[in-house]
Amino acid sequence: MAENGNGSVKEGFKMPEIKYTKLFINGEFVDAASGKEFETRDPRTGDVIVNVAEADKVDVDLAVKAAREAFDHGPWPRMSGYERGRILHKYADLIEQHIEELAALDGIDAGKLFEFGKAVDIPGAVRMLRYYASAADKIHGETLKLTTAHQGYTLKEPIGVVGVIIPWNFPSMMFFLKVSPALAAGCTVVVKPAEQTPLSALFYAKLAKEAGIPDGALNVVNGFGPTAGAALTSHMDVDNISFTGSPEIGSVIMQSAATSNLKTVSLELGGKSPMIIFDDANLDMAVGLASAAVFFNKGEICVAGSRVYVQDGIYDEFVKKVIECAKGWVVGDPFDPKVNMGPQVDKVQYERVLKYIEYGKRDGATLLTGGKPCGDKGYYIEPTIFADVKEDMKIAQDEIFGPVMSLIKFKTIEEAIERANCTKYGLAAGILTNDINIANRVSRSVRAGTVWINCYFVFDADAPFGGYKMSGFGRDQGMNAIEKYLQVKSVITPIYNSPWL
Ligand code: NAD
Repeated sequence: MAENGNGSVKEGFKMPEIKYTKLFINGEFVDAASGKEFETRDPRTGDVIVNVAEADKVDVDLAVKAAREAFDHGPWPRMSGYERGRILHKYADLIEQHIEELAALDGIDAGKLFEFGKAVDIPGAVRMLRYYASAADKIHGETLKLTTAHQGYTLKEPIGVVGVIIPWNFPSMMFFLKVSPALAAGCTVVVKPAEQTPLSALFYAKLAKEAGIPDGALNVVNGFGPTAGAALTSHMDVDNISFTGSPEIGSVIMQSAATSNLKTVSLELGGKSPMIIFDDANLDMAVGLASAAVFFNKGEICVAGSRVYVQDGIYDEFVKKVIECAKGWVVGDPFDPKVNMGPQVDKVQYERVLKYIEYGKRDGATLLTGGKPCGDKGYYIEPTIFADVKEDMKIAQDEIFGPVMSLIKFKTIEEAIERANCTKYGLAAGILTNDINIANRVSRSVRAGTVWINCYFVFDADAPFGGYKMSGFGRDQGMNAIEKYLQVKSVITPIYNSPWL
């Protein structure tokens, strides 16, 4: 039985002291020009953790000015890639010295599992940073083969000032997904973290300074989307926006970029990813992976495998086992090592998930387990499974961003492919089968940026990540990502008296 385990935090664990709450502009922590602050809350209780400075247009202007100056005249884009890489590795070393504190900040700000943060999340962010730190001295152009008596080559130059706008579900990983390649490329950066989760970003700003990243090269402006976010996307001195968030805001950002200075944009947006389980799959593995695919991080993950397609031969057995498995997920305080699922990030998200559970019931899906809030405080929801879900139901179409699985039975491979693709999204897909031919055919037929075969949630700094269709465009991770932050310049000169062309 899922339970709310408020308490039982590991003995000896000390909640982090909140040291950084201001804006980080030009290498200094400063108050907002307006003096305004906003509250960041602990989703375990709904209580205020601390007030942080609230940036608006004036502060964003100052941050962009600092980043512009650091780009146009500062050392960061001008030093060798090797030297930038060396500083970024030092930055990674410093983060490694504070892993527990950083995992705790994301725990109280976002309700994320503390042990997972320590073991996977923060080390994953460090891995991302090191990957690009090591790439900083490997950025180069090509020699061109011209048909005239000229020689040519390309230079890869940093694109300029990058505006980073990120969501709250993986505050640390999102920060480094964007900031690492941008800094490695020689860009300067202004980050607007999600208003729900500013705390770790401010800590990362402090460590950046300690590592030797020059003033102005990395700025952090906490604030809200329509004010601080919009000021960044419409700014004439920002050259690129790297965004992760909802498709609705992605669309607003593209329009803002288009109507300001035509800055380039990359968008990592939402998902409604299918997990397709064939009759020959290992049933226990399928049950475990399907549950984790939608309950991990309380379903607050863009690649959540929220539509689970199960072939008819194993459907009944799968249903029995997956209910049992969901009931085994322990819901409670994310600092308790026994807990598998913490609270939804905030009241808005909590109410939104509960509303979708109501839509599921209203539209005729069968509630198999869960469906209720739990605990007497905070934003906890039971792992929830619906069966008899049809593709036209809201719970099968919309991204819920909560622990809600939709189960759908299918008969043939053709049907599975067609139904899996029956969504406006295309972020990820899971395929569980022992038949290589099925795996090959389905992985090539599903329109999604990442396909996991007999696994799920396997992220790696080297594996490009991003969406098809309305899940966005552009890729994070991998060497492709660095290209977003670079310009290509062709340089051509005549050759005189060459023995050949
Ligand atoms: P959101 O789009 O509401 O907010 C994301 C960020 O955009 C926040 O920092 C917010 O302040 C900012 N923002 C809001 N309005 C803005 C505006 N007018 N101008 C500029 N910035 C603005 O998304 P959310 O609810 O915070 O996060 C959940 C969404 O993010 C989901 O749709 C989820 O799938 C998506 N997401 C995608 C990925 C991915 O990699 N594809 C990863 C995580 C989350």
